[in-house]
Amino acid sequence: MNPQVRIFVAGGDTLLGSALLRRLGGRGCGTLVGVGHDEPCLTDASAVDRFFAKARPDYVFVAGGPSGGIAANQRRPADLMRENLLVAICALESAHRHRAAKLCYLASACAYPRLCPQPMREDALHTGPLEPTNEAYATAKLAGIVLCQAYRRQYGAPFISAIPTNAFGPGDDFRPEEGHVIPSLIARLHAAKIASQEVVTLWGTGTPRREFLYADDIADACLAVMAHYDDASPINLGGGTDVSIAELAGLVAEVVGFRGRIAFDPSRPDGMPLKRLDASRLQAMGWQPTTSFRQALEQTYQWYMQNVAVEEAAHAR
Ligand code: GDP
Repeated sequence: MNPQVRIFVAGGDTLLGSALLRRLGGRGCGTLVGVGHDEPCLTDASAVDRFFAKARPDYVFVAGGPSGGIAANQRRPADLMRENLLVAICALESAHRHRAAKLCYLASACAYPRLCPQPMREDALHTGPLEPTNEAYATAKLAGIVLCQAYRRQYGAPFISAIPTNAFGPGDDFRPEEGHVIPSLIARLHAAKIASQEVVTLWGTGTPRREFLYADDIADACLAVMAHYDDASPINLGGGTDVSIAELAGLVAEVVGFRGRIAFDPSRPDGMPLKRLDASRLQAMGWQPTTSFRQALEQTYQWYMQNVAVEEAAHAR
């Protein structure tokens, strides 16, 4: 990409936003704008518009807005929905007003119906009721997709949307009551190892299946679709590893070195029974992930040890 091209990652502090910044910075493509303290508050329409007027980004990735695991979605549905709606409204309107060359909105796999045929194809959106544990957040993400389509239809805006599968990686939210399953399991099983705990009880039945993809690989897929995809229909960013929660727990235990027993508490919710994306559109573009699941879990644990566990140990002293 031409170094004159200006790229804005809205939500540079999120899991996928920070992975995008690493990817873009590492490739030295284009000039990044709105990084760190220069990023406007994404829920403040006038701040976002002032930023676009000044920074004039050509390419915009919308990775902003809070997300969380099953417990955070149950506790804070209003916050998650409101903030994600505002981020989509502010970013898309300013990108349109200031004529960005292209915008890619990142939605979420929970936008698919709860009992969607697997693997989930893009044309299955809007075909059934959503999973109740994250209905509010998922509705906001669906609204973001439809808003991109509406700007395309009404104004011919060059907006696309992409649906990433369950992501994990460096910079994830490792607080067990807030985060998604992989960072929560890393934090909980690591703590259990340190405390020589014999049993760790995880949530639900352990039978739901999830597809996981390393955040840096998803970032790479985002760059591919920004460069090569231009259609009103969203495109799935999948092609990751499909495992049950019980299998995942075994793998994470191996990576962190927890040798105790893993139990499940079926009184806690399972969420969607299955969640796996059909990635054929992305694969037809020649895209494949490059990090193995095991390697990605190890790199994420390493990041956790160097950044989160070290700080927690310092606070405990
Ligand atoms: P989901 O993919 O939207 O359902 O969200 P999560 O990533 O939070 O949860 C995925 C699955 O992992 C659900 O079936 C949870 O019940 C299960 N799970 C088991 N233990 C945990 C845990 O400690 N934290 C989280 N977040 N999920 C867990």
